Amino acid sequence: MTELTRESAQALIEEVLEVYPEKAKKDRAKHLMVNDKEITQSKKCITSNRKSLPGVMTQRGCAYAGSKGVVWGPIKDIIDISHGPVGCGAYSRGGRRNYFAGTSGVDSFCDINFTSDFQEKDIVFGGDKKLAKLIDELEMLFPLSKGISVQSECPVGLIGDDIEAVAKKKAAEIGKTIVPVRCEGFRGVSQSLGHHIANDAVRDWIISNRDDQPFESTPYDVAILGDYNIGGDAWASRILLEEMGLRVVAQWSGDGTLTEMENTPKVKLNLLHCYRSMNYIARHMEEKYSIPWLEYNFFGPSKIVESLREIASHFDEKIQEGAERVIAKYKPAMDAVIAKYKPRLQGKKVMLYVGGLRPRHTVGAYEDLGMEVIGAGYEFAHNDDYDRTIKEMKDATLIYDDVTGYEFEEFVRQLKPDLIGSGIKEKYAFHKMGVPFRQLHSWDYSGPYHGFDGFAVFARDMDMTVNNPVWSMFKAPWNEADKTEGDALKAA
Ligand code: SF4
Repeated sequence: MTELTRESAQALIEEVLEVYPEKAKKDRAKHLMVNDKEITQSKKCITSNRKSLPGVMTQRGCAYAGSKGVVWGPIKDIIDISHGPVGCGAYSRGGRRNYFAGTSGVDSFCDINFTSDFQEKDIVFGGDKKLAKLIDELEMLFPLSKGISVQSECPVGLIGDDIEAVAKKKAAEIGKTIVPVRCEGFRGVSQSLGHHIANDAVRDWIISNRDDQPFESTPYDVAILGDYNIGGDAWASRILLEEMGLRVVAQWSGDGTLTEMENTPKVKLNLLHCYRSMNYIARHMEEKYSIPWLEYNFFGPSKIVESLREIASHFDEKIQEGAERVIAKYKPAMDAVIAKYKPRLQGKKVMLYVGGLRPRHTVGAYEDLGMEVIGAGYEFAHNDDYDRTIKEMKDATLIYDDVTGYEFEEFVRQLKPDLIGSGIKEKYAFHKMGVPFRQLHSWDYSGPYHGFDGFAVFARDMDMTVNNPVWSMFKAPWNEADKTEGDALKAA
C-alpha cells in the first residue's frame, strides 16, 4: 500500500474527481476530505446529509428502511405492519439479523413480514379500511402481541391516507398501543430521516405511556439505546453492565420490548451506542425527564475499558469498583485474543464504508489488533458524526461521505488496503477484485462484535478474512496465467 501524506491524499481525491463533469465534480468534492485532527468543526471541510446526485451509484436506503428496518423492526413483542405494496417489506425483511429471545409468532414477531399488500384499488380508493381489517386479523391471530406499528410506505403518503385516525380508533377498540409512523421512503435524503421519524413516533406514542405508573427504581438503573442486537451484540454488552452492578431496565431496540421502552424514562442514565439513530430520543428524555445520556463504544478492549470507566464515573464507588472488577476479569482473555491475532494482522490497512456509528467506533478495535484504518465514510451521516470521526482517525487518512461506487473502487485501486469493511451492495464488486472484504452491516452472518465476548469473534473474523487464501483464487482455471486484480494490487 502507498503511504498517505496530506498532499498525496488530496491529490488522490482530485485525480478521482477528474472524470466527473464540472458540476458533479464541484458537488462531490465537498463530500471528500483528508483528515486533519486539528479540525474541530467538520462542516468546514465536508458536506453531509445532502441528496445524492442522480447518475452516480449511491448506497443509501430510504426513510422507511431507517424506521422499520433499523429502529422499530427489532422490538420483539410488537407487530410492524409494512403498510403499502408488498415489496418494501419483503425485500427488507430480516436482513440485519436482530436476534431476540422468544417464540416467533407467539410472543415475538421480528422475523415475520406483515404487509397490507396494497393493490391498485387501494391506491384509487384508499387503504384505511384495509388497514383496520388487517389490525383485526392480527389481533385474532397474534393475541399475545403487545402493540402494533404502522410503517408507511411511499404510496400511503402520496394518496393521503389518515393512518393516525385508524391507529387511534383501533387502539381504543383492541386496548393496545398502535403507532402510526409517517416514514414514507420519499422523505429526506436517506434512511437517516427514517431514524428521526421513528424516534419522534416513539416520543409521541410510547415514551410517556407509564409516566404516572409506579416503578421500583434502584440507583443503578440504566437503559441501552441504539444497540440492535445484531448477532447478539446487545447481549454481549448488557452482561458487562450487569456484572459491574448496573440494572439494565431497557434495551433499544434489539431484543427489546414495548414495556421496556415505556419504562425507560425511569432510569438514571441513558447509554447511547448508535448516536446517529437514537440521539433524538436521548435528547428528548434529557429535556423532558432530565435523564443524562452518554455515548459509549463497546468495540475492542481499549474502547470498552474506556467506556466502562466513563459509565462508572456517573455512579458511586460500588459501580466504579464493579467496572474495575469486570475489566480485570476479562483482561487475560483479551490479552490472549490479541496475542493470537495481532501477529497475523499487524500493519494491515483497512478501509471502511458503513452507516450509523461503525466507521468511527470500530477504529479502536482494529488498532487493538495492530491494524490501521486509512479511510472511513458513512452512507447517511450528519456533520456531528464527522466531528466525532475526525478525532478517531489518524491525520492524512481519507474521509468520504455518501461515496459513489466509482470513487470507492478508485480509492481502493490506488490505496490497496488489506481489508474492506462495508455493505452488501459493495461486497461483490470487491470480491470480484479479489480484495478481502467483511460485510459490516450484519457482521457477514457472524457476531456478536460488541463487548469483550464480541471482540474475540471480531478478531477471528478479521484474521480469517485477511489471511484467507481464497482471494488469490478468483480466476477461472483456464485463465490461471492472469492474476486477479487483488493479486495485481498487492504486487504493485
Ligand atoms: S422508497 Fe418507498 S417504495 Fe421504495 S422501499 Fe422505500 S418506502 Fe418502499
